[in-house]
Amino acid sequence: MADVKHTLSESDIPRSWYNIQADLPEPLPPVLHPQTKQPIGPADLEPLFPRALIEQEVATERDIPIPNEVREIYRQWRPTPLYRARRWEKEIGTPAQIYYKYEGASPVGSHKANTAVAQAFANREAGVKRITTETGAGQWGSALAMACSFLGLNLAVYMVRISFNQKPYRRGLMETYGASVTPSPSSETEAGRAVLAEHPDSTGSLGIAISEAVELAARNGGTKYALGSVLNHVMLHQTVIGQETAKQLELADAEPDVLIGCVGGGSNFAGLSFPFLGRKFRDGSGPRIVAVEPSACPTLTKGKYAYDFGDSAHLTPLIQMYTLGSGFVPSGFHAGGLRYHGMGPLVSHALDLGGIEALAVDQIETFSSGVEFAQAEGILPAPETNHAIAAARREAMRCKDEGKGRTIVFNLSGHGHFDVQAYMDYHAGKLSAYEYSEAEVADALQHLPEV
Ligand SMILES: *Cc1c(COP(=O)(O)O)cnc(C)c1O
Repeated sequence: MADVKHTLSESDIPRSWYNIQADLPEPLPPVLHPQTKQPIGPADLEPLFPRALIEQEVATERDIPIPNEVREIYRQWRPTPLYRARRWEKEIGTPAQIYYKYEGASPVGSHKANTAVAQAFANREAGVKRITTETGAGQWGSALAMACSFLGLNLAVYMVRISFNQKPYRRGLMETYGASVTPSPSSETEAGRAVLAEHPDSTGSLGIAISEAVELAARNGGTKYALGSVLNHVMLHQTVIGQETAKQLELADAEPDVLIGCVGGGSNFAGLSFPFLGRKFRDGSGPRIVAVEPSACPTLTKGKYAYDFGDSAHLTPLIQMYTLGSGFVPSGFHAGGLRYHGMGPLVSHALDLGGIEALAVDQIETFSSGVEFAQAEGILPAPETNHAIAAARREAMRCKDEGKGRTIVFNLSGHGHFDVQAYMDYHAGKLSAYEYSEAEVADALQHLPEV
């Protein structure tokens, strides 16, 4: 049996996505219409999403079959490897066994390709010609751009302006796949013009870029909107990660004690953990599950579990989730994919039910852990992923202190080949450990909608 890399064959690519809604002890709170504050129905979402994805959003069946064409595309990079971090274990002197699932193996270098392909497929099946979306640092935009080029769709991306200016390489990748990329806020939409009128120098936020993309889709019949995280159907598509991991751990004869993922909107974390969490909900057994966020955007650890908008212009429905308020504009820390003000409703609900734990880590600790990991294992992790690595390290050090050999598994959600500047800034001592203060949190939460 392979000791380091637990290889599966193509026939081990899951045939269905795992839907945790089948196993929730209490159902999700309803999604509310932004004006009437009444629960919305599928028809309310049809201007934005194809019907197949709306059905997945509310489905309660446990297993949702993966369409053959999607599975065929997954074959290019799935099953992804599960590695044992032997050199890192030795380096830090822990008795723990540390495994990581390597989602950087996709062509765009992150887990986001798993849902991008599923969403582009559902849109093409519904006869949609163009998709629009937002992107922060560009990982989601490039994953969707690749999927759209595979499936023959046009893609219009609103990219948060600060990233558009500071991270030209992801933009170049999206354009290479054939997408058009506009810096947000832009003058193309009402939402964008409203922000620019007040703040002509706005560097943008994910919330603003979402407003622009949603507006474009709502106004154009043949254009639909796609989101790379947060929504239930995105969490669903990512469960290929956890299903493969369960098989690979079995091959390695390992029983996980703790599962760890970083969280922005929650999808890579959900992808790894939900198949295990479902079992925990069904029979009470299973590992501890830890979601790790930046201390500069502490949605789960300092936010409030309340109804809020998904965007800054308040075009989206109201979702009950952990939130820092839809007006939240985070400081410029380096994990762009973790800057969203809210959290996926399924991840929020899981925390509220006590099925998972949350932890916030500052960016100095995340980069020092990421550099140590890269030196031991060779893989340069994305700055987002470094949050999971820092938490895995804390667990491993606790094992050392307690003299206990536990099994730690984390999701290596993506590689950091486009983020080398952030590492150079870290080496140059330019990063600071920003903590979001209680006062700022209280301020950001003042404007939650009344429900
Ligand atoms: C987008 C991204 C994340 C954060 O998004 P989630 O939906 O929380 O997974 C984490 N890691 C990488 C590499 C990303 O690209």
